[in-house]
Amino acid sequence: MYYLGVDVGSVSTDIVVLDEKLNVYDQVYLRTKGRPIEAIQRGFKQLKNKYKDKEVRAIGTTGSGRGITSFILGADCVKNEITAHAMAGVYYDKEVKTIFEIGGQDSKIILLNQGVVTDFAMNTVCAAGTGSFLDRQAERLGIPIEEFGNYALKSKLAVRIAGRCAVFAESDMIHKQQLGYDSADIIKGLCEALARNYLNNVGKGKDIQPKVFFQGGVAANIGIKEAFEKILGFEIFVPKYYNVMGAIGAALLAKETVESKRCKTNFKGFDISDHVFITNSFQCKDCPNECEVVRILDGEVEIGCFGDRCGKWNQKSHIKSS
Ligand code: SF4
Repeated sequence: MYYLGVDVGSVSTDIVVLDEKLNVYDQVYLRTKGRPIEAIQRGFKQLKNKYKDKEVRAIGTTGSGRGITSFILGADCVKNEITAHAMAGVYYDKEVKTIFEIGGQDSKIILLNQGVVTDFAMNTVCAAGTGSFLDRQAERLGIPIEEFGNYALKSKLAVRIAGRCAVFAESDMIHKQQLGYDSADIIKGLCEALARNYLNNVGKGKDIQPKVFFQGGVAANIGIKEAFEKILGFEIFVPKYYNVMGAIGAALLAKETVESKRCKTNFKGFDISDHVFITNSFQCKDCPNECEVVRILDGEVEIGCFGDRCGKWNQKSHIKSS
């Protein structure tokens, strides 16, 4: 018996399989490449042979592509990333009061009081500090991204890098490279600049209290974890499944939904990987909003709509996103 969680972001799509004790039994990481439906189909194709005869009790989706993929999968629960990350963080440690989440293209901060979200902020504008920005800088320095954090630890003296935005950080880094600074010192300086940037933007005005969990792909970078610790003056914790916490949260929320409603899952099965999904759109003329409504078809059958401001067309779908 399993619970599935799917986190569809703009850079990556994560699928986790939780067993009946809610341990992470399997996980799949895929590049979304701007095509969330295809990413989901590739992921479920990988899982199909192993799980097609197994019982799935619930499935949840989160991430920017949560709505569209919920139609494809028959999700029992569709929740935003804040709720999903908070759910997973608190599941692993009830003492967590702050969650830093830095993903491929955006970053978030979530504040909690006794497991309840009290405040949050998101940054989807400035790329500095996100996974894709770090990938680019690692490539520029000729260092594998997995080694980035370890390089920072080798540094004895960080080079001051302007981290106010991605453009400044990149041009300042290039300038320091040209001046002949050591790569380790530049990387450490970059990690510190990115941590400052995060705290001054996403974390601006927030009462950051320990215990802090650092989640998302960038949490793999021990240099940034240490930079946060240096600035804040206390330990930052990176949970074991830091890179799939959104998907874990979605699976846990789906479990809660199915159990509270005492219903069966709507999951459409692993065969969705073989279906042909078509997306088209039309302009609704029923009021001056003139919404562009996107329809998803499974073959010739319409399975869901989104983009309608009033929910008139979306009502056809079995579940609402939140
Ligand atoms: S979908 Fe709703 S809000 Fe949008 S144009 Fe039609 S009636 Fe108006």
